[in-house]
Amino acid sequence: MLFARIGAAGQARLAAARVLVVGVGATGGAIAHALARAGVGLTLVDRDFPERHNLQRQTLLDDADVDAGIPKAVAAAARLRAIDPDLAVAAHATDVHAGNILALAAGHDVIVDGTDNFATRFVVNDAAVKLGIPWVYCGAIAATGATMTIEAGGKPCLRCLYPEPPPPGAVDTCDTVGVLYPAVAVVAGIAALEVMKLIVGAEPRNRGLLHVDVWEHIYQPFDVAARADCATCGRHVFPAFEARDGGDVLATALCGRDAVHVRPAGRGDAAAAVDLPGIARRLAASAHVVQTSAHLVRFEADGLTVTLFADGRAIVGGTDDPAAARSAYARWIGN
Ligand SMILES: [Zn+2]
Repeated sequence: MLFARIGAAGQARLAAARVLVVGVGATGGAIAHALARAGVGLTLVDRDFPERHNLQRQTLLDDADVDAGIPKAVAAAARLRAIDPDLAVAAHATDVHAGNILALAAGHDVIVDGTDNFATRFVVNDAAVKLGIPWVYCGAIAATGATMTIEAGGKPCLRCLYPEPPPPGAVDTCDTVGVLYPAVAVVAGIAALEVMKLIVGAEPRNRGLLHVDVWEHIYQPFDVAARADCATCGRHVFPAFEARDGGDVLATALCGRDAVHVRPAGRGDAAAAVDLPGIARRLAASAHVVQTSAHLVRFEADGLTVTLFADGRAIVGGTDDPAAARSAYARWIGN
């Protein structure tokens, strides 16, 4: 690499590093793309599948992935391997939660945020500080983006900035205001470079909150102080792990999707795969099965479109009501 502040030694560190990318939508896909071009090994995790209407902001996904019913993480990993067949890249089509983040993060040098929600970011923040793994917060909404580089050991974390996740509905989401790809590209580019700086040990790093507005040409850093009373980095209470669900079906509305993600009770990531062909045959008698692949079965019933994944999770489209999604899951798939 010609850029002197990275150099040959930095390039070797990048090639030996492993980064966990949590969420491979607009921002996560752009970050993964930039890191792959720099030769950084990646683990991609995403719970969703590509949809035609939001391809305009996905750099690693295309129309064929929608038709083939391939989960975002798997499709994005295939695209990165096509760019560089020697790149180390793994994919997990699953959701990230307090019950699996520690196992997912183990062995990684840096975690980077490609999610669209603060609930997952607070799980990542608590896990990263607990494990002593640096992570980079990154989000984009409308024409704006925000990013912060978080390191353990006396430096501020996301909970120093926001003591609690903002309640649902309190912040703008891509549901309500949309997102422009140029804002994604700018903030994802900054976040990807912060990941590279962490790997090679370069300064300066963005340890406060950096806010950008690509429409208004604003690039504004804010200082964030580490708080001694922070439940994560100050007191080491790690509230995200205390809130672990007690085995109930977990249903979460998805940003901008008119859809709800459903994770059934008691199914960890190690659970056996569900019998997708068998379920598709059973559903064909009473529902309209519209797509089957090695990764998913999609069917329509009761005015909803349900996508069932091989690990038992489902995305219920046509509603943003978690209770309606839970009952559709129980009725059509069972527990
Ligand atoms: Zn903190």
